[in-house]
Amino acid sequence: MQLPLLLCVFGLAVAAPADGPNSPYDTIVIGLGSAGTTAATELARSGHKVLALEAQARVGGRVHTVPFGDGLVELGAEWIHGNVSSRTYALATKHNIDTKPQALMLDPYCSDGTRPDVALVRELLDLDFTDEHPNPPEALGTFVTKKFMEYITKNKPGLLKDQDFITEFLAFSNLLTNNLEASNDWNDVSTWDLYEKLGGPQTISWHRHGYTTFFDIMLNKYNNGPGLPNLDMQLNTEVTRITTPQHPNETVTVECKDGNTYTAKYVVVTVSLGVLKATHATLFSPPLPLEKQTAIEKVSIGVVGKVILSFEKAWWPKDIALFGFIWKGDDKKKVPAEDYWTTRILGGHPPMGSSNTLTLWTSGEVAKQVEKLPEDIVKTKCVALLQRFMGDALNITVPAPTGFLRSAWYLNPYTRGSYTYDNLDAPQYPLARKWLSYPLLDSAGEPRVLFAGEATNERHFSTVHGASETGRREAERLLLMIRGEAGNYNVKDF
Ligand SMILES: Cc1cc2nc3c(=O)[nH]c(=O)nc-3n(C[C@H](O)[C@H](O)[C@H](O)COP(=O)(O)OP(=O)(O)OC[C@H]3O[C@@H](n4cnc5c(N)ncnc54)[C@H](O)[C@@H]3O)c2cc1C
Repeated sequence: MQLPLLLCVFGLAVAAPADGPNSPYDTIVIGLGSAGTTAATELARSGHKVLALEAQARVGGRVHTVPFGDGLVELGAEWIHGNVSSRTYALATKHNIDTKPQALMLDPYCSDGTRPDVALVRELLDLDFTDEHPNPPEALGTFVTKKFMEYITKNKPGLLKDQDFITEFLAFSNLLTNNLEASNDWNDVSTWDLYEKLGGPQTISWHRHGYTTFFDIMLNKYNNGPGLPNLDMQLNTEVTRITTPQHPNETVTVECKDGNTYTAKYVVVTVSLGVLKATHATLFSPPLPLEKQTAIEKVSIGVVGKVILSFEKAWWPKDIALFGFIWKGDDKKKVPAEDYWTTRILGGHPPMGSSNTLTLWTSGEVAKQVEKLPEDIVKTKCVALLQRFMGDALNITVPAPTGFLRSAWYLNPYTRGSYTYDNLDAPQYPLARKWLSYPLLDSAGEPRVLFAGEATNERHFSTVHGASETGRREAERLLLMIRGEAGNYNVKDF
């Protein structure tokens, strides 16, 4: 039993340490991504005085809409995944925003300028084994490869003669998995996972509105709205230390890099798992409980990256939605070692927010490398890839791009990764995401520092809607406590 609790139990008077001037805020929210903006706005709308501290110069976190080409592109989250019980979709609909499903039918292209058997590739990609959960769990790649070989042995035995196609198709499937999971290799991902898709189309675009509209709506700024009077937001403000009090009368102290210190009764921390991995040892005083430290270490955050090119005008077929690069083994062998990364570009898609841009997708270690390589190398090699796979097959000379953008989610010190996935340790630590979500309590058992963010969502991690759900979860936790409706509060029930 900790000392302050002992003193309270025996009714001994414990003087509350000096608190400095009374804080004008009930709650400080750290980070204004999907989770933080949801928590801050829900609390502010419920009458709380909220201060939100955001390290970057903008709201949105891993949602980042940028004017580019003849419209907008997304450097981070691209789509709303499912429209049933989705907080993102529901807010768009409530404000009459015409989001558009983007049907991502794959158009495969080969490295020798030919087209593979498109119907065959699509049929094989449609084989979805990810809903099967073998017991004991396995590495996803090993499992899918086994099921795939069983399928073609039974249904397409002729294909067994084309070993090169099988190898390169599986390499492409590996890349596709990595671009969904943010993993480096599909054998880093477990078949064990609790992720649940929302119902409805999985790739719904904010197109020319931009994903950032989600934040404008929450902040009551959409259509020149006036904002929220109870919410003060400070951008460019990095939090460097959060001190959790033991005594119920003390406030939580939040220190910032600019030297300012703020206090409030409650703090909601929404920084990414990547930021927690890098900074938790210095960010929290006292140090985090062991189970939270274990979760921070064991859950993985990976990288998905984008290279976005604009052109004078679209040169690709109008009906193309998703294009994939499937290598021939002999071509791949001839790629010089320094260009290995080019063999791990999945392909890409024309984003719906502009008509003259293409987004190419990378993942894992190569995504990290692409963030660091000189811009002109990335640009030149990506155009060469487009020429090799698509230009030749379409009999087109790919024109020089008019603009270039790339994401840097790994290098960004305020994200340090794109999103989390269930790695091979996940089955041994099934409660890890719950541990990430548990609040830090004072000696009276009241939550004082709370945690939200995509990584803390067991079922909807890695998404914008999932992050938003966790912001709401923590806002509700606080509101219940404050209204005295929490009954015999147990953090583990949330
Ligand atoms: C390339 C890419 C593609 C994606 N595609 C999709 C998609 O199509 N659909 C989908 O649903 N999801 C997608 N995602 C995932 C989705 O973007 C995230 O799951 C979600 O946005 C995470 O929100 P969050 O609030 O948990 O974290 P974040 O958005 O990371 O918010 C945390 C905030 O905390 C701030 N912060 C960090 N450290 C500090 C500090 N010390 N002090 C103050 N502030 C700090 C950060 O600047 C950030 O703004 C994608 C992500 C990426 C990167």
